Amino acid sequence: MNETECTLCERIYKHLQEIRKKYPDYHCKPVWGKGSLNSRICIIGLAPGLHGANKTGIPFTADFSGQLIREIIKELDIDEYFITNVVRCYPENNLPQADEKNNCQIYNYQELLSLQNLKVIIALGEVAYRQIFKLYNIKYSTHKFEHGNVVKLNEKINLISSYHCSKLNINTHKINKDMLKRIFLRAIKLSYHG
Ligand code: URA
Repeated sequence: MNETECTLCERIYKHLQEIRKKYPDYHCKPVWGKGSLNSRICIIGLAPGLHGANKTGIPFTADFSGQLIREIIKELDIDEYFITNVVRCYPENNLPQADEKNNCQIYNYQELLSLQNLKVIIALGEVAYRQIFKLYNIKYSTHKFEHGNVVKLNEKINLISSYHCSKLNINTHKINKDMLKRIFLRAIKLSYHG
């Protein structure tokens, strides 16, 4: 993906300009997905964290959830994966608005299309889950969000849903490392056996 700025979301774009004044070293631009384009597994989160991906320019880095995910990836020896967010810029208060989520769908489409061997999408949290559903024209009402759900998006790709491994969700015991690890194990299996 390219390194250009994006001005589709006026509110977010302006807010990033403000953040850049305060933190001149921060990336403060869209954070594009990273990883091998041969990946069978794609991990999709919500949006860059203010002092995480928004700082580094790489999804799920320099923050709590990123550390957890990367530990699991290492422990399970996953060598090829693609990692991204359904919203690519840090949204004010971490809360993207409906139009902002929709604006980013074009990038979700482009990134997923570039993964020719894609077999499994791990959606971290309900926002990511819903956005991917929309992309594949699947009705949310037929498959409501539940941790551990597996939904066939098309003949090649399964989606597995997980609670987001945010600090808040970990601290409130909504999800723990073992639960997340099981999601990743399931994803590995699905990536080979559908
Ligand atoms: N960091 C990200 O890049 N995305 C998230 O959803 C959370 C933290």
